[in-house]
Amino acid sequence: MEKKLKVALVAHDNMKLDLAEWVDWNWEILLKHHLICTGTTGKMVAKTLMDRRGDSQHARFDITLLKSGPLGGDQQLGSLIAERSIDMLIFFWDPMQAQPHDVDVKALLRLATLYNVPTAINRSSADFLISSPLLGSDYEPVVKDYKSYIERTLATK
Ligand code: PGA
Repeated sequence: MEKKLKVALVAHDNMKLDLAEWVDWNWEILLKHHLICTGTTGKMVAKTLMDRRGDSQHARFDITLLKSGPLGGDQQLGSLIAERSIDMLIFFWDPMQAQPHDVDVKALLRLATLYNVPTAINRSSADFLISSPLLGSDYEPVVKDYKSYIERTLATK
């Protein structure tokens, strides 16, 4: 059986339409996985999936809505990444507009990089990720060993 992945979905406001179209295009694949979204993105993703399925039963999607990104949702997602609870991040961030929570956006992308989470930042990279033959396999991203950093010697009094 295909492995069910935890797929995080986030889009800045100017990119939400792009993500809605992408979700609409890939709805059958996405429904097989657990979707974890920042708040407003999540509502839009749920609506897109419901419209596509032609029913109104939220319960049948495996979707978790976090707080809205600027209200802490990006940080909640970062925390899930640090706990190794996210398998893939689809993050359509806006390259044309500064965000009030730019520092959170940077932190999220940093943690995704640190924990080697497969990350797509636009539609073409999302297309490549979602069609990867590794999807649903036992693939485990390698995470660097930070033991020497954790156990580094610090100056004490
Ligand atoms: P939103 O947050 O889904 O609540 O709009 C997205 C973001 O991180 O900006």
